[in-house]
Amino acid sequence: MGLLVCLQLIFAAGTLPCISRRSTCDREGEPLVDKEDLKLELSDEQYWVTQEKGTEMPFSGAYWNSKDEGAYLCICCDEPLFESGTKYDSGTGWPSFWEPLGKAKINTTEDTAMGMVRMEITCAGCGAHLGHVFPDGPKPSGLRYCVNSASLKLQENAEGSSA
Ligand SMILES: [Zn+2]
Repeated sequence: MGLLVCLQLIFAAGTLPCISRRSTCDREGEPLVDKEDLKLELSDEQYWVTQEKGTEMPFSGAYWNSKDEGAYLCICCDEPLFESGTKYDSGTGWPSFWEPLGKAKINTTEDTAMGMVRMEITCAGCGAHLGHVFPDGPKPSGLRYCVNSASLKLQENAEGSSA
């Protein structure tokens, strides 16, 4: 299934820059994202957030207030991580989701930086830092996946935009 999704993305992304070439589907489980490539292709903020575990300013990103329908892809490897149907307004100023597209899409590790114990979330495909997950989300999951806009790229639904 992963391969099919990747192929669809590559075909759908004909006009995008070479990001789609770095798809992780070539060799499953082995991140193929090259840090030097990322430095050239990402903005400074996107690189800082995803590769150096930065956090964008709240209410500053592209997607914190977005209600557009579609899938949110990893900015580094194009893997679909979240979808608009599970996005909700958490009031924090960061895009918030109560569930990822699949548990296997996201890795969770304990983060004790800044004197807090938080659960960091990263892209399972390439290791990009996404944000943190907190246990204060809405039902049914009770989780809040707090993600930086800089880690995401919205692929809007083609069929959802009927006039
Ligand atoms: Zn990724």
